[in-house]
Amino acid sequence: MELYKENQLKIYNSLSKSKEVFKTVTEGRVGMYVCGPTVYSNVHLGNLRTFMSFDMVFRYLRHLGYKVRYVRNITDAGHLESDAEEGEDKIAKKARLEEIEPMEVVQRYTVDFHEVTQKYNFLPPSIEPTATGHILEQIEMIQEIIDKGMAYEVNGSVYFDVLKYNETSNYGILSGRNIEEAIHNTRALDGQSEKRNPQDFALWKKADERHIMRWNSPWSDGFPGWHLECSVMSSKYLGEQIDIHGGGMDLKFPHHECEIAQSHTCSGVQPVNYWMHANMLLLNGQKMSKSTGNYILPNDILTGNPDATYLGKRILSKGFGVGVVRFFIMQAHYRSILDFSNDALLASEKGYNRLMEAIAALNDVKIGGTSSFDVVAWKQKCYDAMNDDFNSPVLIAHLFEAVKFINQIKDDKATISKEDLETLKNTMNIFVFDVLGLLNDAKDQGSDKLEGVVELLIKLRKEARDNKDWALSDQIRDELASLGIQLKDGREGTTFSVN
Ligand code: AMP
Ligand code: ZN
Repeated sequence: MELYKENQLKIYNSLSKSKEVFKTVTEGRVGMYVCGPTVYSNVHLGNLRTFMSFDMVFRYLRHLGYKVRYVRNITDAGHLESDAEEGEDKIAKKARLEEIEPMEVVQRYTVDFHEVTQKYNFLPPSIEPTATGHILEQIEMIQEIIDKGMAYEVNGSVYFDVLKYNETSNYGILSGRNIEEAIHNTRALDGQSEKRNPQDFALWKKADERHIMRWNSPWSDGFPGWHLECSVMSSKYLGEQIDIHGGGMDLKFPHHECEIAQSHTCSGVQPVNYWMHANMLLLNGQKMSKSTGNYILPNDILTGNPDATYLGKRILSKGFGVGVVRFFIMQAHYRSILDFSNDALLASEKGYNRLMEAIAALNDVKIGGTSSFDVVAWKQKCYDAMNDDFNSPVLIAHLFEAVKFINQIKDDKATISKEDLETLKNTMNIFVFDVLGLLNDAKDQGSDKLEGVVELLIKLRKEARDNKDWALSDQIRDELASLGIQLKDGREGTTFSVN
């Protein structure tokens, strides 16, 4: 169904800094590119939040009837430490530290990324291209940029000439940075650098003898600059002008600004119609980040890993289901900052369980005469929320109006007609499962009780251990294991998982 024809979707465009009516390049089709993970470590929940935001965007566009080609790349080369122009490749560094091949690093963390996104109920993208799979195309694009006079070669490396580009175009169009000011404020190059200007960025870097990830090129044995792969792969799979380009807020500059400069130089057109940027997930009031150690892994949240700590304190009191975590993330708008905490997850769990109970109750709701709730108007409000720049928190507020109504019907305080019941059921299914991607994995009362019983046994086992009654402690562990319940002892306590 071509629902997009009757829904006026508006998207906040980071390029114009305003909400704009969404118009596609080709009627009925959407090309969407999202910068994927750099596979040198496990994705943390912050990374996952950004990808989940675009999973929700993908889901809603599909629901509206668009034929979406969703490209999300894997960065497996060229991303240097601290996103700077110097230093070691993130993947090569990990390979050196672990004494394995770079491609083993890539394989390990690509598999992890796929496992996590599958567990968290993501829809797979249409194409998932890799940087190393597109070295030839990257070399071709560098040559094109050199031919257009916007890049120069020094000692086997090639740099984009930002000042020259800025004479005829606007370097800073996305981030709002003023290049002239930036030049004025940076100290002159010390003669060590090959760049004409500190603002210039690498398209190709000559590899020194320690750099093991290297390819042959007309300029040197080397490797491509980080920003290049996304220009190459987005144009290869989605054309010179794509509808949506997404990524985390922190990629706006320099990554996306440089992507625009590269692509625009080659095609002469603005490469992206709608730039979308997802906001950051915080932990302990700071950006969740691998490099500062301030992060939590998606798997730890599912198991309640007691070893996940911050400043020696356990982050999680227990494990949470995928549905709860998705619900927690979707309760914030994708452009808002979101603070992660155990308390916030506990609150989300309550809300999520209430939602799932109401959906289950819809199966045995009594039909009776006319409806005391305007279901059709409510359905429209759900669409209006999503049409307003994918406003999932407002959508969720509307879903809870329906929850209230369902509970009133259960208590004989409200009535619903047969037709409205069908509409209510369908609309709940569409928004809860198809669009927000929540899973119906709410715990039933039986598993709640099981959880309580196992927690009690864990307590008794601890008492046994404190009394040095090892036989009893082992008996509890082994007999639970034979029932398929595994205990895991960590520094901060014991958790369990059920097979
Ligand atoms: P990376 O693997 O470092 O290239 O990051 C993958 C994606 O995660 C990028 O789009 C980042 O902007 C995003 N990202 C990184 N840290 C966070 C965070 N704390 N919250 C939300 N998104 C993040
Ligand atoms: Zn990118």
